[in-house]
Amino acid sequence: MPQPRRLVALGLCSAALLVLIAPTEATAQRPARAFPFDAVLTKSLGFRTGPDTAAPFVLPKPNNYLDAPTRVRIVASTAPVGERGATCTVEYGGKRGFLRCDETSGVTPVPATPPAPSGAPPSTPAPAPRTPVASTKQFCEGVAECKTFCASACRLDVQGWREGTMNSTCTFSADAIARAGGPRADQVSKIPALANVVADESAVATGDVIEALKRLDQRIASSGASWPAGHVAYVKNCYRPPIEEATRECDFILKAAHLQRKWEGRTPKDAAEAKIRASNLALARQLENPADNLGLTWPGPSPHSRGMACDIVVAKRGERGRMTPTTSCAGSNDATMRAHSKALDEALTNATVGAVRLKYEAWHYEFGRYETTGKSCRCVAPACNDKYWPPNCKDGC
Ligand SMILES: [Zn+2]
Repeated sequence: MPQPRRLVALGLCSAALLVLIAPTEATAQRPARAFPFDAVLTKSLGFRTGPDTAAPFVLPKPNNYLDAPTRVRIVASTAPVGERGATCTVEYGGKRGFLRCDETSGVTPVPATPPAPSGAPPSTPAPAPRTPVASTKQFCEGVAECKTFCASACRLDVQGWREGTMNSTCTFSADAIARAGGPRADQVSKIPALANVVADESAVATGDVIEALKRLDQRIASSGASWPAGHVAYVKNCYRPPIEEATRECDFILKAAHLQRKWEGRTPKDAAEAKIRASNLALARQLENPADNLGLTWPGPSPHSRGMACDIVVAKRGERGRMTPTTSCAGSNDATMRAHSKALDEALTNATVGAVRLKYEAWHYEFGRYETTGKSCRCVAPACNDKYWPPNCKDGC
């Protein structure tokens, strides 16, 4: 597909031309826009549960404000976007809420797809998958509350605890799962086979994410030599049920509590034991706060359970569809791996495909939240590879 390249070239060599084009497009589209349509934020705006600016936020910190250039879907507005007093009802990250979209908000509708050439009937965009409106409140928040919550919902098998294993089993109330929101089972589907994007058999994703993966496929097809020959973008997983996500978070919290209990009221008998105690308690301080220290959230919804994240690596396509990943955490000093990771960042984190990457996980990409500022811990190319390599694969930023 030559079009993305032309756009890049245009952006590089003629900023002045873009200035001339932009107002024309905006003026031409504003009157005829039918809901829903996508818009890009050019400023940080509060994403709230009600139209009033005092209404609570939809998402917890650090996502309570959506930063530029976040892309949202506008489903309704009190006045045309960009007019005085306008407030928009928008969908973002599987949630519905309200944003200011008046003349100073900087909310900019994304140009509609141009009509198909040569008399073909105009294509109707597929309806956006609807996600149930749910509270984004986590099942618990804060160290003390989550220790209590996880202790009552889960059981930790200390015997099976090895480096990197998950050893808790949890039972969450139906109410908690319903509140976690995200797509329903009938709103996710298998990812179709594409030329340059191959998904694991078990991977399922929302319609929006599947569309983004199709754009990724086209992007790789047009990448030429900058994409490693004979390789594909291999999607390991996208949507993950909230139970699985919350179990993983409680697992860390319960392990922290276990280590702290182990040393409670106990004085180390010698220097060696004092060293073990110090290291156990340091680890516990890390694990007890997955939201700040582990790049996760408090137990409850996550970008994967909201249906907006995928774990994607570069893989070599072998015989009978066998995939051999060439990007991972192990061996991240390898120059080839770094080059492949860079190619993947470039293919995904651009305005066309619209993904962002976690700084510390070279495989975790999110769609529909094109933001990298503040405490988001997200990056886009070229910074992901230039500034955040090698990724440490476990810690927050
Ligand atoms: Zn992930």
